[in-house]
Amino acid sequence: MTMATAAAGRVDLRSDTVTQPTAAMREAMLAAPLGDDVFGDDPSVNALQEKIAAMLGFEAALFVPTGTQSNLCAILSHCQRGDEYIVGQMNHCYRWEGGGAAVLGSVQPQPLNHQADGSLALAEIEAAIKPDDAHFARSRLLALENTLGGKLLPFDYVQQATALAASKGLNRHLDGARLFNAATAQAALTGSDARTEARRIAQCFDSVSVCFSKGLGAPVGSALCGSREFIARAHRVRKMAGGAMRQSGVLAAAASYALDHNIDRLAQDHALAAQLAEGLAGLEGVQIETPQSNMLFVDLTGVARERSAGLIPYLAAHGILSTGLYRLRFVTHLDVDAAGVHRAIAAIRDYFKA
Ligand SMILES: *Cc1c(COP(=O)(O)O)cnc(C)c1O
Repeated sequence: MTMATAAAGRVDLRSDTVTQPTAAMREAMLAAPLGDDVFGDDPSVNALQEKIAAMLGFEAALFVPTGTQSNLCAILSHCQRGDEYIVGQMNHCYRWEGGGAAVLGSVQPQPLNHQADGSLALAEIEAAIKPDDAHFARSRLLALENTLGGKLLPFDYVQQATALAASKGLNRHLDGARLFNAATAQAALTGSDARTEARRIAQCFDSVSVCFSKGLGAPVGSALCGSREFIARAHRVRKMAGGAMRQSGVLAAAASYALDHNIDRLAQDHALAAQLAEGLAGLEGVQIETPQSNMLFVDLTGVARERSAGLIPYLAAHGILSTGLYRLRFVTHLDVDAAGVHRAIAAIRDYFKA
């Protein structure tokens, strides 16, 4: 836990984006050699791009300020005006990015409903792919997200969906904002390690976006990975979107530090989410979804639902921050420890018992 959160005595479970850079990460930022990345001159940015591309098995990568911009660069590099991308209703790059692909790229989304496990039914993907006919937008891209709402997409599904897309001539993009959480959860199933699983997942796609500012604990930044030719196109979109930065090596150094030091510890976040779930078991009207990664969702029904409006303010008054009303979300990350999770459990139990 950082000094700031410890001093405030807060347990912030709103998101894994709230982490503060650790002292060691700040030192890495201070020590980073810098240049002007618009000239391609920033050694720290170049090193990060090479590192993440090599880790995930791609030719090239592009450092961008946000995951939103990374997805935008990806969609606008895969698609032209009048093309469409097939995507899940709840996917970030459809629902939570201000409609950027449509607004800025004239690329039409074709959203599909999710199955219970977060996947898109293969038959529905296939049915959504349009024939080459003047009536239709050109189906160009399948976009998946992993983890999705904290859920790990089953790997055999990822392989089948991406193979189907490729067989129909579609490109494949992964919004892997939390790819390393997905890889950590997958590694627990396969007995492998997170880096190996991250690469296996990534290699099913033509492009992958990864966020450093979520569970990895960096303050800012995402990377888009793909072929050299694809990244050259994305580089142009990034400029157009205002995302070409200058001495951004100070940020890339934090991201690079996160890749070196904060992947293996993600399993702790997953264990704490599981502990939180166990600690809330048995409360009347509190329905718990078994967490698969660092996110716990809790649905309030019956008596608990009647009292839901007061819960978040009550928790906040006790230094526990989270979000939701009838469906609550708790996210663990590197500024939350076991003591914080125990405090959260106690406060939630007290609220519903009182
Ligand atoms: C957070 C997130 C993004 C966007 O990241 P920002 O840096 O907030 O723009 C994209 N996709 C997913 C799945 C995310 O969770």
